[in-house]
Amino acid sequence: MSIKTPQAVRGTQDIFGPEADAFAHVVETFERVRRLYRFRRVEMPVFERTEVFSRSLGETTDVVSKEMYSFEVRGGESLTLRPEFTAGIARAFLTDGWKQYAPLKVATHGPLFRYERPQKGRYRQFHQIDAEVIGAAEPQADVELLAMADQLLRELGISDGVTLTLNTLGDAESRDAWRAALVEHFRGVKAELSEDSQERLEKNPLRILDSKDERDRRFVADAPQIDTFLSAEAQDFFAAVTAGLDAAGVAWTRNAALVRGLDYYRHTAFEFVTDRLGAQGTVLGGGRYDGLMESLGGPATPAVGWAAGIERLAMLVGAQAEAPADASVVVEDDALLTRGTAMVTAIRRAGFTAELVATGSPRKRFDKAVKGGALTLFALSPGEDGAAVRTKGDAELLARIEQAIGIVAP
Ligand code: ATP
Ligand code: MG
Repeated sequence: MSIKTPQAVRGTQDIFGPEADAFAHVVETFERVRRLYRFRRVEMPVFERTEVFSRSLGETTDVVSKEMYSFEVRGGESLTLRPEFTAGIARAFLTDGWKQYAPLKVATHGPLFRYERPQKGRYRQFHQIDAEVIGAAEPQADVELLAMADQLLRELGISDGVTLTLNTLGDAESRDAWRAALVEHFRGVKAELSEDSQERLEKNPLRILDSKDERDRRFVADAPQIDTFLSAEAQDFFAAVTAGLDAAGVAWTRNAALVRGLDYYRHTAFEFVTDRLGAQGTVLGGGRYDGLMESLGGPATPAVGWAAGIERLAMLVGAQAEAPADASVVVEDDALLTRGTAMVTAIRRAGFTAELVATGSPRKRFDKAVKGGALTLFALSPGEDGAAVRTKGDAELLARIEQAIGIVAP
Protein backbone atom coordinates (compact mmCIF):
# COMPACT_ATOMS: atom_id res chain seq x y z
CA MET A 1 0.00 0.00 0.00
CA SER A 2 1.31 3.43 -0.84
CA ILE A 3 1.38 6.12 1.79
CA LYS A 4 -0.63 9.23 0.99
CA THR A 5 1.13 12.54 1.65
CA PRO A 6 -0.94 14.65 4.07
CA GLN A 7 -2.16 17.89 2.54
CA ALA A 8 -1.76 21.30 4.17
CA VAL A 9 -4.71 22.35 6.33
CA ARG A 10 -7.32 24.49 4.57
CA GLY A 11 -6.75 28.17 5.15
CA THR A 12 -3.05 27.80 5.91
CA GLN A 13 -0.33 28.79 3.49
CA ASP A 14 3.20 27.80 2.61
CA ILE A 15 4.82 31.05 1.58
CA PHE A 16 7.73 30.73 -0.80
CA GLY A 17 9.77 32.57 -3.42
CA PRO A 18 8.85 36.12 -4.43
CA GLU A 19 5.85 36.07 -2.09
CA ALA A 20 8.05 35.12 0.84
CA ASP A 21 10.42 37.93 -0.16
CA ALA A 22 7.52 40.41 -0.22
CA PHE A 23 6.42 39.14 3.20
CA ALA A 24 9.93 39.58 4.62
CA HIS A 25 10.15 43.03 3.05
CA VAL A 26 6.96 44.11 4.86
CA VAL A 27 8.26 42.83 8.19
CA GLU A 28 11.70 44.40 7.74
CA THR A 29 10.20 47.75 6.78
CA PHE A 30 7.88 47.62 9.80
CA GLU A 31 10.84 46.84 12.08
CA ARG A 32 12.74 49.83 10.71
CA VAL A 33 9.81 52.23 10.96
CA ARG A 34 8.79 51.17 14.48
CA ARG A 35 12.35 51.93 15.60
CA LEU A 36 12.10 55.41 14.08
CA TYR A 37 9.03 55.97 16.25
CA ARG A 38 10.70 54.33 19.26
CA PHE A 39 8.23 51.48 19.69
CA ARG A 40 9.69 48.62 21.74
CA ARG A 41 9.56 45.11 20.40
CA VAL A 42 7.55 42.53 22.40
CA GLU A 43 7.07 38.80 21.86
CA MET A 44 3.71 37.39 22.90
CA PRO A 45 2.37 33.87 23.48
CA VAL A 46 0.47 32.29 20.61
CA PHE A 47 -2.24 31.05 22.96
CA GLU A 48 -3.96 32.58 25.97
CA ARG A 49 -6.79 31.67 28.30
CA THR A 50 -9.99 31.93 26.26
CA GLU A 51 -11.41 34.61 28.57
CA VAL A 52 -8.63 37.01 27.56
CA PHE A 53 -10.33 37.26 24.17
CA SER A 54 -13.96 36.62 25.07
CA ARG A 55 -13.98 39.34 27.74
CA SER A 56 -12.07 41.97 25.84
CA LEU A 57 -13.43 41.54 22.31
CA GLY A 58 -17.00 40.94 23.48
CA GLU A 59 -19.07 37.79 23.14
CA THR A 60 -21.12 39.21 20.27
CA THR A 61 -18.24 39.97 17.94
CA ASP A 62 -17.66 37.76 14.89
CA VAL A 63 -14.24 36.84 16.19
CA VAL A 64 -15.47 35.50 19.54
CA SER A 65 -18.81 34.11 18.43
CA LYS A 66 -17.54 32.07 15.49
CA GLU A 67 -13.90 32.53 14.54
CA MET A 68 -11.83 31.37 17.51
CA TYR A 69 -9.75 28.21 17.67
CA SER A 70 -10.41 27.15 21.26
CA PHE A 71 -9.44 23.90 22.90
CA GLU A 72 -9.58 22.32 26.28
CA VAL A 73 -6.42 21.26 28.06
CA ARG A 74 -5.88 18.88 30.94
CA GLY A 75 -7.86 20.11 33.89
CA GLY A 76 -10.62 21.34 31.63
CA GLU A 77 -9.30 24.84 31.11
CA SER A 78 -10.16 26.48 27.78
CA LEU A 79 -7.33 28.04 25.78
CA THR A 80 -7.52 29.90 22.48
CA LEU A 81 -5.05 30.46 19.66
CA ARG A 82 -4.71 34.22 19.47
CA PRO A 83 -7.09 35.77 16.90
CA GLU A 84 -5.50 39.22 17.46
CA PHE A 85 -2.65 40.80 19.42
CA THR A 86 -4.27 43.57 21.43
CA ALA A 87 -6.00 41.46 24.07
CA GLY A 88 -2.85 39.48 24.90
CA ILE A 89 -0.76 42.64 25.12
CA ALA A 90 -3.37 44.21 27.40
CA ARG A 91 -3.34 41.08 29.56
CA ALA A 92 0.47 41.27 29.81
CA PHE A 93 0.33 44.96 30.67
CA LEU A 94 -1.81 44.03 33.68
CA THR A 95 -0.13 40.79 34.76
CA ASP A 96 3.52 41.66 34.09
CA GLY A 97 3.66 45.06 35.74
CA TRP A 98 4.30 46.91 32.47
CA LYS A 99 2.27 49.73 33.98
CA GLN A 100 5.46 51.24 35.38
CA TYR A 101 6.58 51.97 31.80
CA ALA A 102 3.38 53.78 30.80
CA PRO A 103 2.91 55.36 28.37
CA LEU A 104 4.24 52.21 26.76
CA LYS A 105 4.80 51.98 23.02
CA VAL A 106 5.10 48.39 21.83
CA ALA A 107 5.17 46.60 18.50
CA THR A 108 5.08 42.96 17.49
CA HIS A 109 4.27 40.67 14.58
CA GLY A 110 3.44 37.04 14.02
CA PRO A 111 0.73 34.50 13.19
CA LEU A 112 -2.92 34.76 14.20
CA PHE A 113 -5.74 32.26 13.85
CA ARG A 114 -9.35 32.76 12.86
CA TYR A 115 -11.81 30.16 11.68
CA GLU A 116 -13.09 31.97 8.59
CA ARG A 117 -14.03 30.98 5.08
CA PRO A 118 -10.71 31.00 3.23
CA GLN A 119 -10.47 33.13 0.09
CA LYS A 120 -7.96 35.43 -1.56
CA GLY A 121 -6.50 37.63 1.17
CA ARG A 122 -8.35 35.72 3.91
CA TYR A 123 -6.78 32.78 5.69
CA ARG A 124 -7.23 30.76 8.86
CA GLN A 125 -3.63 31.29 9.84
CA PHE A 126 -2.58 34.76 8.78
CA HIS A 127 -0.03 37.26 10.01
CA GLN A 128 -0.13 40.77 11.35
CA ILE A 129 2.14 43.57 12.31
CA ASP A 130 0.82 45.38 15.36
CA ALA A 131 1.54 48.58 17.25
CA GLU A 132 0.03 49.76 20.54
CA VAL A 133 0.39 52.74 22.86
CA ILE A 134 -0.86 51.85 26.34
CA GLY A 135 -1.46 54.33 29.12
CA ALA A 136 -1.75 57.41 26.93
CA ALA A 137 -4.96 59.40 27.04
CA GLU A 138 -3.80 62.20 24.77
CA PRO A 139 -4.89 62.52 21.14
CA GLN A 140 -1.18 62.92 20.37
CA ALA A 141 -0.80 59.15 20.82
CA ASP A 142 -3.43 58.52 18.12
CA VAL A 143 -1.63 60.96 15.84
CA GLU A 144 1.75 59.31 16.40
CA LEU A 145 0.36 55.86 15.62
CA LEU A 146 -1.36 57.07 12.48
CA ALA A 147 1.75 58.92 11.32
CA MET A 148 3.70 55.71 11.82
CA ALA A 149 1.17 53.70 9.80
CA ASP A 150 1.26 56.35 7.08
CA GLN A 151 5.06 56.30 6.96
CA LEU A 152 5.09 52.51 6.80
CA LEU A 153 2.78 52.51 3.77
CA ARG A 154 4.89 55.21 2.11
CA GLU A 155 8.13 53.33 2.71
CA LEU A 156 6.54 50.19 1.31
CA GLY A 157 5.67 52.27 -1.76
CA ILE A 158 1.95 51.49 -1.52
CA SER A 159 0.48 54.69 -0.13
CA ASP A 160 -0.96 55.71 -3.53
CA GLY A 161 -4.47 54.34 -3.71
CA VAL A 162 -4.62 53.60 0.00
CA THR A 163 -6.79 56.02 1.97
CA LEU A 164 -6.91 56.66 5.69
CA THR A 165 -10.57 56.73 6.70
CA LEU A 166 -11.28 58.08 10.12
CA ASN A 167 -14.19 58.26 12.52
CA THR A 168 -14.88 58.97 16.14
CA LEU A 169 -17.11 56.74 18.20
CA GLY A 170 -17.16 59.27 21.00
CA ASP A 171 -16.69 58.58 24.68
CA ALA A 172 -18.80 56.02 26.53
CA GLU A 173 -21.59 58.54 27.04
CA SER A 174 -21.78 59.66 23.38
CA ARG A 175 -21.53 56.11 22.19
CA ASP A 176 -24.38 54.91 24.40
CA ALA A 177 -26.68 57.69 23.21
CA TRP A 178 -25.80 56.95 19.58
CA ARG A 179 -26.36 53.25 20.14
CA ALA A 180 -29.84 53.88 21.54
CA ALA A 181 -30.75 56.06 18.55
CA LEU A 182 -29.48 53.38 16.15
CA VAL A 183 -31.56 50.70 17.84
CA GLU A 184 -34.62 52.88 17.54
CA HIS A 185 -33.91 53.65 13.88
CA PHE A 186 -33.33 50.06 12.84
CA ARG A 187 -36.08 48.60 15.01
CA GLY A 188 -38.60 50.38 12.82
CA VAL A 189 -37.43 48.42 9.77
CA LYS A 190 -36.29 45.27 11.52
CA ALA A 191 -38.23 42.84 9.34
CA GLU A 192 -36.51 44.20 6.22
CA LEU A 193 -32.95 43.85 7.52
CA SER A 194 -30.68 40.89 6.81
CA GLU A 195 -30.88 38.00 9.26
CA ASP A 196 -27.43 38.89 10.62
CA SER A 197 -28.44 42.48 11.25
CA GLN A 198 -31.72 41.49 12.89
CA GLU A 199 -29.59 39.62 15.36
CA ARG A 200 -27.13 42.50 15.73
CA LEU A 201 -29.95 44.91 16.47
CA GLU A 202 -30.15 44.18 20.18
CA LYS A 203 -26.63 42.91 20.77
CA ASN A 204 -24.38 45.04 18.63
CA PRO A 205 -26.32 47.62 16.58
CA LEU A 206 -23.21 49.56 15.54
CA ARG A 207 -22.18 46.59 13.44
CA ILE A 208 -25.19 47.07 11.20
CA LEU A 209 -23.45 50.17 9.84
CA ASP A 210 -20.61 47.89 8.79
CA SER A 211 -22.88 45.46 6.92
CA LYS A 212 -22.15 44.77 3.29
CA ASP A 213 -25.63 43.32 2.71
CA GLU A 214 -27.72 45.39 0.26
CA ARG A 215 -30.83 44.89 2.40
CA ASP A 216 -29.08 46.75 5.22
CA ARG A 217 -27.26 49.35 3.14
CA ARG A 218 -30.57 51.07 2.26
CA PHE A 219 -31.26 51.86 5.90
CA VAL A 220 -27.69 52.69 6.80
CA ALA A 221 -27.68 55.75 4.56
CA ASP A 222 -30.15 57.70 6.72
CA ALA A 223 -29.18 56.20 10.07
CA PRO A 224 -28.45 58.64 12.91
CA GLN A 225 -24.84 59.84 12.88
CA ILE A 226 -22.47 59.94 15.82
CA ASP A 227 -21.89 63.69 15.39
CA THR A 228 -25.34 64.48 16.78
CA PHE A 229 -24.45 62.71 20.02
CA LEU A 230 -20.84 63.74 20.59
CA SER A 231 -20.11 65.33 23.94
CA ALA A 232 -17.99 68.50 23.96
CA GLU A 233 -15.01 66.47 25.20
CA ALA A 234 -15.38 63.92 22.46
CA GLN A 235 -15.60 66.68 19.86
CA ASP A 236 -12.45 68.31 21.21
CA PHE A 237 -10.64 65.01 21.19
CA PHE A 238 -11.48 64.30 17.58
CA ALA A 239 -10.59 67.85 16.55
CA ALA A 240 -7.18 67.43 18.21
CA VAL A 241 -6.55 64.18 16.35
CA THR A 242 -7.42 65.66 12.96
CA ALA A 243 -5.40 68.81 13.66
CA GLY A 244 -2.43 66.63 14.58
CA LEU A 245 -2.77 64.59 11.39
CA ASP A 246 -2.90 67.76 9.32
CA ALA A 247 0.21 69.06 11.09
CA ALA A 248 2.00 65.76 10.43
CA GLY A 249 0.98 65.84 6.77
CA VAL A 250 -1.09 62.66 7.00
CA ALA A 251 -4.03 62.75 4.59
CA TRP A 252 -7.35 61.44 5.91
CA THR A 253 -11.03 61.36 5.05
CA ARG A 254 -13.98 61.18 7.39
CA ASN A 255 -16.22 58.14 7.23
CA ALA A 256 -19.04 58.70 9.71
CA ALA A 257 -20.25 55.11 9.23
CA LEU A 258 -16.90 53.55 10.12
CA VAL A 259 -17.23 51.24 13.10
CA ARG A 260 -14.72 48.57 13.90
CA GLY A 261 -15.64 44.93 14.32
CA LEU A 262 -14.68 44.85 17.98
CA ASP A 263 -16.67 46.23 20.88
CA TYR A 264 -13.88 47.87 22.78
CA TYR A 265 -13.27 50.98 20.69
CA ARG A 266 -13.81 54.53 21.95
CA HIS A 267 -13.09 57.85 20.28
CA THR A 268 -10.81 57.34 17.28
CA ALA A 269 -11.48 54.47 14.89
CA PHE A 270 -9.66 54.17 11.59
CA GLU A 271 -8.92 51.99 8.61
CA PHE A 272 -6.52 52.31 5.73
CA VAL A 273 -8.53 51.03 2.78
CA THR A 274 -7.84 50.33 -0.87
CA ASP A 275 -9.86 49.16 -3.84
CA ARG A 276 -6.87 47.25 -5.19
CA LEU A 277 -7.57 44.06 -3.19
CA GLY A 278 -11.14 43.29 -4.20
CA ALA A 279 -13.41 42.45 -1.30
CA GLN A 280 -10.55 42.36 1.20
CA GLY A 281 -10.01 46.12 1.07
CA THR A 282 -8.92 46.90 4.62
CA VAL A 283 -5.15 46.73 4.93
CA LEU A 284 -4.69 48.29 8.34
CA GLY A 285 -7.19 49.01 11.07
CA GLY A 286 -7.33 50.16 14.64
CA GLY A 287 -8.48 52.70 17.12
CA ARG A 288 -8.64 53.75 20.72
CA TYR A 289 -9.70 51.16 23.26
CA ASP A 290 -9.98 52.99 26.57
CA GLY A 291 -12.43 50.43 28.01
CA LEU A 292 -10.43 47.28 27.34
CA MET A 293 -8.30 47.07 30.49
CA GLU A 294 -11.37 47.25 32.71
CA SER A 295 -12.99 44.37 30.84
CA LEU A 296 -9.92 42.34 31.84
CA GLY A 297 -10.30 43.37 35.48
CA GLY A 298 -7.63 46.07 35.43
CA PRO A 299 -7.79 49.78 36.21
CA ALA A 300 -9.14 52.18 33.59
CA THR A 301 -6.23 52.60 31.18
CA PRO A 302 -6.42 54.62 27.99
CA ALA A 303 -4.80 52.97 24.98
CA VAL A 304 -4.75 53.04 21.21
CA GLY A 305 -3.36 50.71 18.57
CA TRP A 306 -3.51 49.24 15.10
CA ALA A 307 -2.85 46.04 13.24
CA ALA A 308 -2.30 45.24 9.59
CA GLY A 309 -2.41 41.99 7.69
CA ILE A 310 1.05 41.17 6.40
CA GLU A 311 -0.35 39.08 3.51
CA ARG A 312 -2.50 41.97 2.31
CA LEU A 313 0.39 44.42 2.54
CA ALA A 314 2.62 41.93 0.72
CA MET A 315 0.04 41.58 -2.06
CA LEU A 316 0.06 45.34 -2.54
CA VAL A 317 3.85 45.48 -2.47
CA GLY A 318 3.94 42.78 -5.14
CA ALA A 319 6.55 40.16 -5.87
CA GLN A 320 9.98 41.32 -4.83
CA ALA A 321 12.87 40.53 -7.14
CA GLU A 322 15.53 38.82 -5.09
CA ALA A 323 18.57 41.06 -4.75
CA PRO A 324 21.61 39.66 -6.59
CA ALA A 325 24.52 38.37 -4.51
CA ASP A 326 27.48 40.72 -4.11
CA ALA A 327 29.85 37.91 -4.97
CA SER A 328 29.95 34.40 -6.32
CA VAL A 329 32.99 32.25 -5.57
CA VAL A 330 33.51 29.63 -8.25
CA VAL A 331 35.65 26.58 -7.50
CA GLU A 332 36.82 25.35 -10.88
CA ASP A 333 38.69 22.35 -9.55
CA ASP A 334 37.52 20.17 -6.68
CA ALA A 335 41.01 20.20 -5.20
CA LEU A 336 40.45 23.90 -4.42
CA LEU A 337 37.24 23.42 -2.46
CA THR A 338 38.85 24.34 0.89
CA ARG A 339 40.32 27.52 -0.65
CA GLY A 340 36.88 28.37 -1.98
CA THR A 341 35.24 27.71 1.36
CA ALA A 342 37.75 29.97 3.10
CA MET A 343 37.22 32.73 0.55
CA VAL A 344 33.40 32.71 0.56
CA THR A 345 33.39 32.71 4.37
CA ALA A 346 35.80 35.67 4.48
CA ILE A 347 33.59 37.58 2.03
CA ARG A 348 30.46 36.93 4.11
CA ARG A 349 32.24 37.85 7.34
CA ALA A 350 33.20 41.14 5.71
CA GLY A 351 29.46 41.82 5.29
CA PHE A 352 28.96 41.02 1.61
CA THR A 353 26.34 38.54 0.37
CA ALA A 354 27.99 35.60 -1.35
CA GLU A 355 27.29 32.24 -2.92
CA LEU A 356 29.71 29.32 -3.37
CA VAL A 357 29.51 27.53 -6.71
CA ALA A 358 31.29 24.18 -6.34
CA THR A 359 28.98 21.49 -7.63
CA GLY A 360 28.30 20.00 -11.04
CA SER A 361 30.73 19.74 -13.91
CA PRO A 362 33.79 21.92 -13.08
CA ARG A 363 33.86 23.31 -16.63
CA LYS A 364 30.29 24.55 -16.37
CA ARG A 365 30.58 26.18 -12.96
CA PHE A 366 31.78 29.52 -14.27
CA ASP A 367 28.80 29.78 -16.65
CA LYS A 368 26.49 28.76 -13.86
CA ALA A 369 27.84 31.53 -11.65
CA VAL A 370 27.45 34.10 -14.44
CA LYS A 371 23.82 33.03 -14.91
CA GLY A 372 23.25 33.37 -11.16
CA GLY A 373 23.62 37.12 -11.65
CA ALA A 374 26.06 37.91 -8.84
CA LEU A 375 27.56 41.38 -9.09
CA THR A 376 31.12 40.05 -8.93
CA LEU A 377 32.77 36.68 -9.59
CA PHE A 378 35.86 35.15 -7.98
CA ALA A 379 36.93 32.06 -9.90
CA LEU A 380 39.52 29.73 -8.38
CA SER A 381 41.48 27.53 -10.73
CA PRO A 382 44.77 25.62 -10.36
CA GLY A 383 47.76 27.91 -10.75
CA GLU A 384 50.94 29.19 -9.21
CA ASP A 385 51.22 28.53 -5.45
CA GLY A 386 48.13 26.33 -5.65
CA ALA A 387 45.45 28.63 -7.05
CA ALA A 388 44.85 31.44 -9.46
CA VAL A 389 42.03 33.88 -8.85
CA ARG A 390 40.22 35.36 -11.82
CA THR A 391 37.77 38.17 -11.09
CA LYS A 392 34.98 39.75 -13.06
CA GLY A 393 32.18 42.24 -12.48
CA ASP A 394 31.57 45.62 -10.91
CA ALA A 395 35.06 47.13 -10.54
CA GLU A 396 34.32 49.31 -7.54
CA LEU A 397 32.65 46.47 -5.63
CA LEU A 398 35.46 44.07 -6.58
CA ALA A 399 38.00 46.47 -5.13
CA ARG A 400 36.04 46.79 -1.89
CA ILE A 401 35.66 43.02 -1.46
CA GLU A 402 39.31 42.39 -2.33
CA GLN A 403 40.43 44.92 0.17
CA ALA A 404 38.11 43.51 2.86
CA ILE A 405 39.33 39.94 2.47
CA GLY A 406 42.94 40.90 1.87
CA ILE A 407 43.53 39.51 -1.58
CA VAL A 408 45.50 41.39 -4.18
CA ALA A 409 44.08 41.38 -7.65
CA PRO A 410 46.45 39.78 -10.12
P1 ATP B 1 -12.21 42.04 7.86
O1 ATP B 1 -13.30 43.04 7.87
O2 ATP B 1 -11.43 41.99 6.56
O3 ATP B 1 -12.62 40.67 8.34
P2 ATP B 1 -11.28 42.57 10.49
O4 ATP B 1 -12.00 43.76 10.94
O5 ATP B 1 -11.70 41.22 10.94
O6 ATP B 1 -11.14 42.58 8.89
P3 ATP B 1 -9.00 43.19 12.06
O7 ATP B 1 -9.39 42.30 13.15
O8 ATP B 1 -9.14 44.64 12.23
O9 ATP B 1 -9.74 42.74 10.73
O10 ATP B 1 -7.52 42.85 11.58
C1 ATP B 1 -6.69 43.85 11.00
C2 ATP B 1 -6.16 43.41 9.66
O11 ATP B 1 -5.76 42.05 9.66
C3 ATP B 1 -7.17 43.47 8.54
O12 ATP B 1 -7.28 44.75 8.05
C4 ATP B 1 -6.55 42.54 7.53
O13 ATP B 1 -5.51 43.18 6.81
C5 ATP B 1 -5.95 41.47 8.39
N1 ATP B 1 -6.83 40.29 8.50
C6 ATP B 1 -7.88 40.10 9.32
N2 ATP B 1 -8.40 38.87 9.17
C7 ATP B 1 -7.62 38.25 8.22
C8 ATP B 1 -7.63 36.95 7.62
N3 ATP B 1 -8.51 36.02 7.96
N4 ATP B 1 -6.68 36.66 6.68
C9 ATP B 1 -5.77 37.59 6.32
N5 ATP B 1 -5.71 38.83 6.85
C10 ATP B 1 -6.62 39.16 7.78
MG1 MG C 1 -12.88 39.67 10.16
